[in-house]
Amino acid sequence: MTDCLFCKIAAKQIPSSIVYEDEELLAFKDIHPAAPVHLLVIPKVHVATLSECNETHGALLGKLLALAPKLAKEHGCEVTYDADGKPAGGYKTLINSGPDGGQEVYHLHLHMYGGARPWPGQ
Ligand code: 5GP
Repeated sequence: MTDCLFCKIAAKQIPSSIVYEDEELLAFKDIHPAAPVHLLVIPKVHVATLSECNETHGALLGKLLALAPKLAKEHGCEVTYDADGKPAGGYKTLINSGPDGGQEVYHLHLHMYGGARPWPGQ
């Protein structure tokens, strides 16, 4: 889609702070961070919203979600466990879908927030 902001970011037509890239996915810093770590993970292919997805998108959605732990580790907000198995750290993942879901940019994206509590929207 030629008029899509995140397609333009994926095509490097608009600059962004890219933190990860592979053949299918791009992750970059949100321009208006709502937490010390605020990343957006997008598929390079244009998918307007999660609401358009079905089981044929399963592999792509799996990769999108599975990138979060890697990014969390790289950005210092992974979940860790002490000797007693008590968890610490962590991050929040969020996908807004449609107007009532708070979606503003119509190119599927996963928000990743780290380093702050309470979280945005709570
Ligand atoms: P949504 O509300 O659609 O779930 O989130 C869209 C996000 O995209 C917002 O957090 C907003 O700050 C971010 N955003 C909007 N325009 C740009 C941009 O040009 N560059 C970057 N890096 N983020 C953007």
